[in-house]
Amino acid sequence: MLNSTVLKLATAALLAWPAAGVLPAAKLRVVATTPDLAALAREVGGTAVDVTALAKPTEDPHYVDAKPSHIVTLNRADVLIEGGAELELGWLPPLLESSRNSKIATGAAGRIVASSGVRMREIPTTFDRSKGDVHALGNPHFLLDPVNAKIIAATMADHFAKVDPKSAELFKANLQAFNTRLEAKLAEWQKQLEPYRGARIVTYHKDFGYLAERFGLNVVETLEPKPGIAPSPAHMTQVIGTMKAQGARVILIQPYQKRKTAESVARQTGAVVLELSQQPGARANTSTYFDLMDHIVGSLATAFHEAQ
Ligand SMILES: [Zn+2]
Repeated sequence: MLNSTVLKLATAALLAWPAAGVLPAAKLRVVATTPDLAALAREVGGTAVDVTALAKPTEDPHYVDAKPSHIVTLNRADVLIEGGAELELGWLPPLLESSRNSKIATGAAGRIVASSGVRMREIPTTFDRSKGDVHALGNPHFLLDPVNAKIIAATMADHFAKVDPKSAELFKANLQAFNTRLEAKLAEWQKQLEPYRGARIVTYHKDFGYLAERFGLNVVETLEPKPGIAPSPAHMTQVIGTMKAQGARVILIQPYQKRKTAESVARQTGAVVLELSQQPGARANTSTYFDLMDHIVGSLATAFHEAQ
C-alpha cells in the first residue's frame, strides 16, 4: 500500500526527529529463535538490548509457524541467536533468506549459534530424514542443563561485545552476575533432586536428556520411537513393558505434545503425566531462566515424591 504520498509523509516524519546525537543510545536489537534463548539474552544484555523471540513459548521449536512479521523482525535485527544443530531447520532458513540482513549472516558477529560451544548428546550413527528424524546433528534441547546455559551466556556476551563495543563492560558484568547466581541456584536444584537420584522417567520426545544427565535421572523410554516420529501402537506396547519392568512412574510431556497418548500409557502403567514446558513464559511466573528452572525442578521433586 506504499504510494508516493505515504512515503513522502513517512520521510517527513523521520526528518522531523531530533538529530541522532540527542537521542538516547539505541539498544541492540537482538532476535532469538526461541523464548529460552531470549531469556538468556536478556540476562546478558540487560539494559543495552531489546530482545524478541520468534517462536511462541507454546510452540514446538522444531515446527514454528513462520510469519511475514518474522521477516521484518529479522531484517531489523543487529543480532540473531539460534539454537543450531538443525533445531530450526524446518522454518528458519527461508525466513532468513527473505530478510536480506548481512549483519546476521552465517559467520557474522551478529549471528550466534548456541550449540557451537555445547557438548552434544546423542549424535546419531544412522539417520534417515525421509522418515521424519529431526536430530541429525545430535540432541538440540540442551538448555535445561544449567552448565550449558552458562556456556551459551558466555558466547552471547562475547558476540554482543563485538557488535556493541561501547557496552562491553556491561555485558561482562551481567555475565558475571548471571554466573554467580546460576552456580548458587544449581547447588540448590541439585539438593532438591538429590533424594530422587536414579528415578526412572519416560518422555514424549528426546527433550529432557540433558536435564536428566545433570540431575541423575534415568530416561528409560520415549513415546516417540525416534525424535520427530509419531508414537506407534507397537512402540507403545514396548514402552509399557519397559515401564512396568523398570518401575518408571512419571511421564514428562511438553504442552504441544499429544497428552492423550501419554495418558493412555499412564493408565496402563500406574504412572502420572507431568506437563512441563521448557520455554520461559509458557506458564505464569516463569519468564526468566531462573524462574523456569525453579518451576521445573520443583514440579519434578513433587511428582517423584508423590510417585514413591
Ligand atoms: Zn527435538
